[in-house]
Amino acid sequence: MQGSTKTYCIIGDPIQHSLSPGMQNAAFASAGLNCTYIAFRVPANELKESIESLRSIKVSGFNITVPHKVEVMKYLDELDSSARKATAVNTVINIEGIFRGYNTDISGFVEPLRKRHVDFQGMRVLLLGAGGAARAVVAALSQERSIGRIIIANRDVRRASVLARIGSGLGLRCETLSLENAQDVSPECDLIVNATTIGLGNESSPINHDHIKKGSIVYDMVYRPIVTDLIENAKYAQAIVVYGYEMLIEQGAKAFEIWTGLPAPKEAMKKNLLGIFGEPV
Ligand code: NDP
Repeated sequence: MQGSTKTYCIIGDPIQHSLSPGMQNAAFASAGLNCTYIAFRVPANELKESIESLRSIKVSGFNITVPHKVEVMKYLDELDSSARKATAVNTVINIEGIFRGYNTDISGFVEPLRKRHVDFQGMRVLLLGAGGAARAVVAALSQERSIGRIIIANRDVRRASVLARIGSGLGLRCETLSLENAQDVSPECDLIVNATTIGLGNESSPINHDHIKKGSIVYDMVYRPIVTDLIENAKYAQAIVVYGYEMLIEQGAKAFEIWTGLPAPKEAMKKNLLGIFGEPV
């Protein structure tokens, strides 16, 4: 690193679990860029001051994770259409002092489904969670016109209702449910997405294997551990599994492209995440 090294970072709380520093530094190294990426723990009550600090040190760009993706919008100068659609921001670029926010979780979420050639026609979706990541899922699914309906299940049902209104505004048919009742509907769902933090601390999944339809798709956005209890349950139920690390790579690749204008070295990013062992079986 030199004085001319460009600095990028991720802010969130908790942040120790983040794999973005390793993944983005691997991408910068692979592309031969003089850039570095670090993680800062920023508690919710310090967000405003932290954004001001990033401005004064002229950070080149940053990612935003739990729990700031919605709140951070207040402190930015411009929002890209992706951020406006999701009403959440996970990526910011500093363009000569202007902080411009994007949402790369939208394309990051969809890409692993596209790779599996998923047909969204008439699909019934169960979305667990109503935070920043869940907003990106709703925005992403609104781009698939043929989706049947989305049931949003959250611990705080009022937050689910707020997201359902956002989804309805984007043309989706949304219903809400409390998280504890999610199993009542999960057996009829074609796609189950976990966009809560459940699993990060190895907690049990709110959906048991006997409440998952064989052949349905189970997508856990939690990426650490790679194999969560929900993923285990999905495999047992013979569902199709989408791992959180797949989305992590795609959303990170898109952020890299926004920051550098270069195609992201996805293989280097994947190798950094999965090491020599490769994809889980
Ligand atoms: P937010 O803080 O915005 O939202 C957190 C969500 O988790 C809310 O729905 C919240 O419910 C729920 N939640 C938190 N604790 C509990 C609990 N103990 N029991 C039940 N529900 C709980 O976070 P994000 O939306 O930004 O992130 C959510 C998850 O998605 C994280 O695990 C994050 O790592 C992951 N993620 C992964 C990405 C990837 O690339 N793979 C990209 C983005 C996110 P309530 O509203 O009731 O508080």
